[in-house]
Amino acid sequence: MTHTNVLLLAVALVAVLAAGYAVACWANPFTRCWRCRGDGQLQGAARVLQLSLERRCHRCRGTGRARRLGRTAWENWRAIGRAADAAAATGASDAERRV
Ligand SMILES: [Zn+2]
Repeated sequence: MTHTNVLLLAVALVAVLAAGYAVACWANPFTRCWRCRGDGQLQGAARVLQLSLERRCHRCRGTGRARRLGRTAWENWRAIGRAADAAAATGASDAERRV
C-alpha cells in the first residue's frame, strides 16, 4: 500500500466518522450532562467547585441533559449564517457596520 492510499483511507475513515457523528447529533441532540453525570445534582468535589450551597447543576440547570458539542457548533454556525444573510439583505457591509 502506498502513502497516497493510506492517506485516502484515513481521509475516508474520518469522513465516515464525521458523518456518523453528525447523524447522531441530528437524531439525538442531547446527551447526558458530563458535569453531574445526568442526575441534575452535583456531588462531592463538583459541588464544592461550584462555590454555591445549591446542589442543582448549573451546567444543565438540573435537567441532567446537555446539548451535544456537535449540535451546539451546528446551531452557532447556522446563527452566524443567518446574521450574515440579514446583513447582506440590509445591504450593510462589514466595513459600514464597524464605523
Ligand atoms: Zn448537569
